[in-house]
Amino acid sequence: MIEFPPAFALRMEKSLQHEWSSFIDAFSKEATTSIRINVKKKKITLPNPVLWADSGYYLDKRPSFTLDPTFHAGTYYVQEASSMLLEQAIKQAVNLNEPIRALDLCAAPGGKSTHIVSLLNDDSLLISNEVIRTRASVLSENIQKWGYGNVIVTNSDPSDFEKLTGYFDLIVVDAPCSGEGLFRKDPNTIQQWSEENVLLCSQRQQRILADIWPSLKENGILIYSTCTYNEAENENNLKWLANNNQVEFIPLKLNSDWGIEEVKKGKAIGYRCLPHKVKGEGFFISVIRKKEAAQSVSIKSKNSFQLASKKIKDCLIDWQLPHDYDLVMLDDLIVSLPGQYITEIDFLSRSLKTVLKGTAIAIQKHDKFIPEHSLALSIYLNTSNFKTIELTLEEAILYLKKETLMIGEGERGFSLVTYQHMPLGWVNLLGNRVNNLYPSGWRILMR
Ligand code: SAM
Repeated sequence: MIEFPPAFALRMEKSLQHEWSSFIDAFSKEATTSIRINVKKKKITLPNPVLWADSGYYLDKRPSFTLDPTFHAGTYYVQEASSMLLEQAIKQAVNLNEPIRALDLCAAPGGKSTHIVSLLNDDSLLISNEVIRTRASVLSENIQKWGYGNVIVTNSDPSDFEKLTGYFDLIVVDAPCSGEGLFRKDPNTIQQWSEENVLLCSQRQQRILADIWPSLKENGILIYSTCTYNEAENENNLKWLANNNQVEFIPLKLNSDWGIEEVKKGKAIGYRCLPHKVKGEGFFISVIRKKEAAQSVSIKSKNSFQLASKKIKDCLIDWQLPHDYDLVMLDDLIVSLPGQYITEIDFLSRSLKTVLKGTAIAIQKHDKFIPEHSLALSIYLNTSNFKTIELTLEEAILYLKKETLMIGEGERGFSLVTYQHMPLGWVNLLGNRVNNLYPSGWRILMR
């Protein structure tokens, strides 16, 4: 039987009352496994849908995702079902017909960011930020695999966003927390839990909210979420936010069959997932509208981005380019960016520590173009423009381990390798051998 920290058990028993035994019983069942499909890459439906997320599905068992090449191709993201509730928050609070400037502030490893960008329309821009450098690299990898072109990955501290006053229409703060909702899925979180840590987390969350609040537009939406149950990190932080700012809490219409609880404290409204009521793990989410004037930052362009020449554009137009995207030169790297945001991305790149901008298309070497890995994973890749080699499962795993492949004998040049017709990356065929161009840092290390 699961052993909870005594202070946690005491608090939960008091709060759940007659539901306490059902809560404990839920820990004798396994945590569910769920994925969210990247419908821009593969349109499939599976038998067991997550009821609050259009492309979310439960799996009967947990396969080895690492050994599934379609996972590395970005056709789906493994994501806990409760956290997909973000979809309801966004669909019900944000006008998705408008171009939205969105920030996912605490974004690594990328579950919410890949979800947000799939919900926004193509004229929107997502800044996906992670403060911890190593985690920002993982985030960048997952964003590239997801393949959208309108995402910028940054590695900035929440306080750095103060420069962007009134810029964002939507900010998601999926805050670092004490993780009580993960006790079933990841028992290590039980060992790390303490009352002191709950207090530290709640103070850190307040700092994050205070830092980010100025960069939200008037009438903009802040979505605050945690994967913990306690009031200090949830309701009390919302109350604190409301006491210090003008806010409106937005109620969500959720189907009662989903088992999600509405939580109210003063004016604050939130929604809580508990593992004995919801098919998922513990989660808390609240949607807040900013009801105060916020002067918008004036975006000054230094035009530090150099647009690619017509000659380069003509050479690469058949590789990828959606009609409203432009190619810019970052030294010899050619990157595709949404045209309407070039000035803003230029400004953002100077205000924040940028890790990834749009989609890297190619490196120019004299009059040759070497295709970039991001291009292979882009939802806009024009596959018909490239020589393609379909790999078997064994070959695909070798490719993802960056090992030697015996393919395309006698042929020469860059070629796209696919598995189940989903692009995995590039190889350079050299006639008698193959150069495997899979990024070293991404290779599968599993034996
Ligand atoms: N949103 C992510 C997803 O869906 O995949 C999960 C985010 S996780 C709950 C919280 C993130 O906040 C972690 O990646 C952590 O590194 C980051 N973090 C830690 N301390 C932070 C701080 N002081 N300010 C902002 N983010 C922080």
